[in-house]
Amino acid sequence: MPNPSILILPGDGIGPEVMAEVRKVIDWFGANRDVNFDVIEDLVGGISYDTHGTPLTDAAMEQAQKVDAVLLGAVGGPKYDKLDFAMKPERGLLRLRKEMDLFANLRPAQCFDALADFSSLKRDVVAGLDIVIVRELTSGVYFGEPRGIMEEGNERVGINTQRYTESEIDRVARSAFELAMRRNRKLCSMEKSNVMESGVLWREVVTEVAKDYPEVELTHMLADNGAMQLVRKPKQFDVIVTDNLFGDMLSDAAAMLTGSLGMLPSASLGAPMENGRPKALYEPVHGSAPDIAGQGKANPIACILSFAMALRYSFDRGDDALALEGAVEAVLAQGVRTADLLGEEGREPVSTSEMGDAIIAALGTA
Ligand code: NAD
Repeated sequence: MPNPSILILPGDGIGPEVMAEVRKVIDWFGANRDVNFDVIEDLVGGISYDTHGTPLTDAAMEQAQKVDAVLLGAVGGPKYDKLDFAMKPERGLLRLRKEMDLFANLRPAQCFDALADFSSLKRDVVAGLDIVIVRELTSGVYFGEPRGIMEEGNERVGINTQRYTESEIDRVARSAFELAMRRNRKLCSMEKSNVMESGVLWREVVTEVAKDYPEVELTHMLADNGAMQLVRKPKQFDVIVTDNLFGDMLSDAAAMLTGSLGMLPSASLGAPMENGRPKALYEPVHGSAPDIAGQGKANPIACILSFAMALRYSFDRGDDALALEGAVEAVLAQGVRTADLLGEEGREPVSTSEMGDAIIAALGTA
């Protein structure tokens, strides 16, 4: 069996800083577990534009198609704001998502006990929260035709079209059912079938796919009620599957239940490759944070937890993923905090690399 392969694209701003901590974690697994990752590193975003004149080279794209998983830091920064649209750092990320056809975006919302007071909701509503939102990422109203701003009579009209084919709904539903099978076997599908035909079809197709997953308890909820329930009683959910537009909003709302942007990982999955595992890109939800870049202040946990997702979904190493998440939890319980996790507290924050070292130390005892 060849070694599992990873393409690392640190990107811009705090991307390289947080990714350096992930490299320590990867090395720790190489030294302490029966796995050796083949790691290749390349450029994406502004740094790729500065070096090669493009936000992602064809060579980097080709590597991304070949490896078992891509890990990305963050892209962008004020330096690149005036570039042509096609050269903007974000185009590198969009190219990866498009050419790898990553249609299922997984956004976990997990509330570590030590940070429960950080949420804007009451502790008992969020403590122990552990849910995942699966958002369809490559279709729906952000891509449907016709679209544009057009003349109609003596005024302009802005048009976007919500459009889903059966196969697009089927494949993202299957990703969500597969995920539910690995978790608590509960899936809630959200749409607006009361007012949208695309929602009626969504509900029909998800119900049909459910026949292949009889162990999973499927429920349906209108997406507006879903938003309400997410802030009222989020722990009622396990896995949620929804379309691109509703998923965009619901996953942001759910993410904020847990506190800091520096804590949030994500995965974007595509169709299964020859080895049966999905094409996959893992990245923290946060951006390149130019306001703190280069100062050693960034919280590396979102990026480290993104690697934990890779261990689980791309490398079938669920126990190692749990060990890594447990190490993060242990470190937070000890009171180790980067600046973003301190709030009003008068404690001294640790640096990005000190947080990484603390997680490695906790892994050592896992
Ligand atoms: P951002 O996520 O970079 O930062 C928002 C705020 O959160 C900032 O105050 C930042 O300091 C803080 N923050 C973010 N991540 C943190 C971390 N790990 N630890 C501590 N604090 C953290 O969003 P923004 O400021 O709107 O965007 C900055 C740049 O990043 C822009 O160029 C934007 O286009 C880009 N961006 C990229 C991605 C991506 O690469 N996926 C996502 C969002 C934004």
